[in-house]
Amino acid sequence: MKKNTISFQKKNKPRQISIKWKIFLFLLGFCGVLLILLWFFQVIFLNSFYKGIKINEIKATANTIEKSINDENIATIISTVSENNDICIKVLSSSGDTIYSSHVVKGCIIHSKPDFDEKTLPSEVTNNDGELFQYYNHDGYSRETEPEPAPDSDATQTDNTQTQDKPPSEEKEKEKDTLIYAKTIIDANDEELTLVLNSIISPVNATVNTLRVQLYYITAFMILFSVILALIIAKWISRPIEAINNSTKMLATGDYSTRFKGTGYKEIAELSDTLNYTAKELSKVELLRQELIANISHDLRTPLTLISGYAEAMRDLPDENNSENAQIIVDETKRLTTLVNDVMDISKLQTGNISIHRQPYNLTASLSDSINRMNKLMEMDGYQIDFVSNREVTLAADETRISQAFYNLLTNAINYTGEDKKIIVTQTIFPNPADDLADWIKIEVTDSGEGIAAEDLPYIWDRYYKVDKTHKRAVTGTGLGLSIVKSILDMHHGDYGVTSKLNKGSVFWFTLKI
Ligand code: ADP
Repeated sequence: MKKNTISFQKKNKPRQISIKWKIFLFLLGFCGVLLILLWFFQVIFLNSFYKGIKINEIKATANTIEKSINDENIATIISTVSENNDICIKVLSSSGDTIYSSHVVKGCIIHSKPDFDEKTLPSEVTNNDGELFQYYNHDGYSRETEPEPAPDSDATQTDNTQTQDKPPSEEKEKEKDTLIYAKTIIDANDEELTLVLNSIISPVNATVNTLRVQLYYITAFMILFSVILALIIAKWISRPIEAINNSTKMLATGDYSTRFKGTGYKEIAELSDTLNYTAKELSKVELLRQELIANISHDLRTPLTLISGYAEAMRDLPDENNSENAQIIVDETKRLTTLVNDVMDISKLQTGNISIHRQPYNLTASLSDSINRMNKLMEMDGYQIDFVSNREVTLAADETRISQAFYNLLTNAINYTGEDKKIIVTQTIFPNPADDLADWIKIEVTDSGEGIAAEDLPYIWDRYYKVDKTHKRAVTGTGLGLSIVKSILDMHHGDYGVTSKLNKGSVFWFTLKI
């Protein structure tokens, strides 16, 4: 047991970090990704997002007006879209005279600043392929042209827009607060008009700073929150696992009364149910093992006592030195041999260390031989074994093993049969419904003994299981016989079973494919 504990500890060592830290790291990673996204979108890209939105807005407004330029209510339309979007609008003739005007934003450049040159603007726009963007500084209102940030621009370069290829430096861009968009449109009379829209871009620096400070707090809070959450979740998950681990260590030291109490969530409840079942089964095996040792010791001691007793008597007392006593020694030695063989067989069979050698042989003749031999051995004690068969059957199987299985059933029948000391062995052939191609053979061993109680029936095939635990009869075996039968038939893909009635007798049977 000590060995087990040591090996557990050794295996534990290379394990990586505990579940507590794993959950913490996962949560931290998750929060990290969220925060990085927030930082990128709220702080780093806010300015460009905002500008992009403004540009799209101003272009959409220009398109709306362009579509309605021939409408008779164009003046109303212009003032409505102007108010709705907070954009000042002017429509200029080709000579630069104002045709329509909507002034909704106080201090807009196109309405209130003297350095805004309306007269030259239409030709400037036409030269710039009918479209022009201009940014104006908040202080001083100096005019600068900028590249169009909207992706659908196909504006070509003019003298006036020579700086368009180079993106504006960030410093410069931050200073600007007014965006002017001018576009050449054609009205129903084929006259060229220039649409001028003026939108105010509020500086986002202050907002970005506010967001940055907020994000510092959010980051700190998120880290703290993930630590606390990780600790709570980890405790909730790992506590039952630790409890189960402790119980399993106790189980490993041989304490089969250990009970697993895993509660909290479904998986752990299922695990503890499985482990409780395992502990129960292990304790059963342990009990059977202890019983077997007790039985084997008992079964070994009886013949050994007899052998040494009779041998000493034959040595010391000349009268006792006769063949009857010698026979007793021989019989007891045989019993010892059977016992030892049984124990060896079952361990070999159940660890899979035995292979079967199938060869065609006459099963009927082989069974008949075994019965004859047994009849000869037992007829002095009044036992009689009858064999009923209608034809000889040859099949491919391991003769030694099948004979061993049959012999075990036969000796059980002899051991447990009733006062009439009669046993009947029947051989029948039947077509197996599950197997169209081959017939099957069924061997039944019927006795008239006390039978087996229904509650014991499912267990008699288990190793070391014995219904009669009190050793009423000297013939009682080791509890291994039927387990050997089961293993042999399993290896032959045969079937086996028993029907039994208390005080009437039992019919043990097995089937094999012919
Ligand atoms: P054992 O060596 O004790 O006979 P087995 O594995 O052969 O072990 O049988 C298991 C148990 O099944 C026996 O202890 C016995 O109680 C019961 N049993 C087996 N064969 C018979 C039978 N023919 N009649 C009544 N009980 C039987």
